Amino acid sequence: MDAQRTLRRQISCVGIGLHSGNKVNLTLKPAPADFGVRFRRIDLGHHEVPATVNNLAGIQLATGLSSNEVSVETVEHLLAALVSVGVDNVIIELNSPEVPIMDGSAAPFIYLIHEAGVKRLAAPRKYLKIVRPIAISRGDKRIALYPSDHFKVTYSISYDHPLLRHQSRTLRITEESFVEEIAPARTFTFLKDVEMMRQNGLALGGSLENAIVLGETGILNNALRFDDEFVRHKILDAVGDLALVGYPVIGHLVAHRAGHALHTEFAAKILEEAGAWRLVEGPFEVPVLPVVGAQVKAAAPRLAN
Ligand SMILES: [Zn+2]
Repeated sequence: MDAQRTLRRQISCVGIGLHSGNKVNLTLKPAPADFGVRFRRIDLGHHEVPATVNNLAGIQLATGLSSNEVSVETVEHLLAALVSVGVDNVIIELNSPEVPIMDGSAAPFIYLIHEAGVKRLAAPRKYLKIVRPIAISRGDKRIALYPSDHFKVTYSISYDHPLLRHQSRTLRITEESFVEEIAPARTFTFLKDVEMMRQNGLALGGSLENAIVLGETGILNNALRFDDEFVRHKILDAVGDLALVGYPVIGHLVAHRAGHALHTEFAAKILEEAGAWRLVEGPFEVPVLPVVGAQVKAAAPRLAN
């Protein structure tokens, strides 16, 4: 049986919120089968916000959720890490409205999950298998899912910037490929946008420690982690946003110039198009937690008690 999984033990770390710049404590805790992924605001009476499209809230640079006016922001990198290494059930405790930005990638979350360990539960995992294409487009932005035997992503981006024009990549997403090829890819922004965000009170916690910043003539950070780190990060965002459907997806996701708004609109549309998919069980048994490489170890967060 391809079983649902949770963490072996709880684990905590500290980081800062991208928008507020405030210190945030994050704790991941084991949860029972069919519990799903739920955020819990320990600063607001332990109110829970399940990570589903039903709780989608405003998209402001990142993906936010809310339930009964309690919100959680910047959820996508953590959700991408959890779904990609097969953690189906987990409680995510926060003492702030924001998931900490860490280094702007999913590598610190992979490190945390790896440290906590993963265990199987006595219940089968269900996958959402695409049987008919689903697509939406908005101008030249487009996103679609096609039937496939695996979960695969093709992403292409296009910007009018001397250092970033077109990048495209196709990758079959497995635990190993996500950990090695996608998780370490950091978020990016343009220097000209940073000032605007600051004026609007956004990205107060943003720095070269947690984002690649593209100036007119160069990258302000010392080096990229991959030549095409930008499109890899877009794949990471899409995987995290797609996780809001509540099941790992089996299909080929194809996106062009999309972003959080389109990813999440698409996640909601998938659930509405009930004739375009079926819920299926394995056998897709995959190894529990691949060995983490140097890039993930280098991104280890500061652990807390
Ligand atoms: Zn991102």
